[in-house]
Amino acid sequence: MIKAGLSDNSCSEVMLENNTYVRIMNLAQKRNSTIIIPIGSIEQHSTHLPVGTDYIIAYKLAVMIACRILNRYGIQVYVAPPIPYSLSIEWKHKNTFTITLSLQTFSNLIYEIVSELISHGFKNIVLFNGHGGNTEALNIIARWIANSQADKSIKIYVVNWWDLIRDELSTLTEQKTLLHAGEVETSIALALNIPVEIKNLDYVDTDKMPWTKNGYTVYTSEYPRNKAWGKPHLATKEKGQKIVEAILSKMEKILLNITSSKGQYAKPST
Ligand SMILES: [Zn+2]
Repeated sequence: MIKAGLSDNSCSEVMLENNTYVRIMNLAQKRNSTIIIPIGSIEQHSTHLPVGTDYIIAYKLAVMIACRILNRYGIQVYVAPPIPYSLSIEWKHKNTFTITLSLQTFSNLIYEIVSELISHGFKNIVLFNGHGGNTEALNIIARWIANSQADKSIKIYVVNWWDLIRDELSTLTEQKTLLHAGEVETSIALALNIPVEIKNLDYVDTDKMPWTKNGYTVYTSEYPRNKAWGKPHLATKEKGQKIVEAILSKMEKILLNITSSKGQYAKPST
């Protein structure tokens, strides 16, 4: 049986690939059946984080969330195998190991996987995103698929984990948003036991990504594409643990909401 490699809250049965088709179909056919697809990237994360950081974080968090829901409430949601490759053109540079898909390929990949899951009966598809460069595309694809369904009970959720904790970041970290391989991401990597070469930092010390302006966005390749952006020198494992807990607690509420009330998981009324 494949294990998530998590130090805490590990439970392999929430990982889709560890289940037989009989078990999966039993759950998928039920009302409010829910599956999380972790999505990340394979891209440079400067000199201190591995190239798989985005998808490893998304995958580990998704499994931890699913385990928490199962252990605390007996509610089963599946975590699909993660999608590591995505849209990383912003970090593509000849001297860095970044692999990007085209928008067409990425759109087709997400569209076809989600459509297959729906065809097997899943009602709630949660696209759990760990890479900022995927956000716009995921929103469009999700909107497209959801609005094409005759079955109105089918819902597609796009969750960027950093959006869940904007308030918490205002107190937990000096850097107030995700950025790239900065304080937030590096702290989470430390907390999740992802290999971090913390003594080997190469970063642009900034509070926002270069394309974010006041009230508009400007796209240009005129910025270093082999560095971290943000404040990785301020990262600590303790901050990461608090951030992870904040994300898990927000996701716990979201999943309870998705899977409760009129769903298969509702306790019988007395
Ligand atoms: Zn990242």
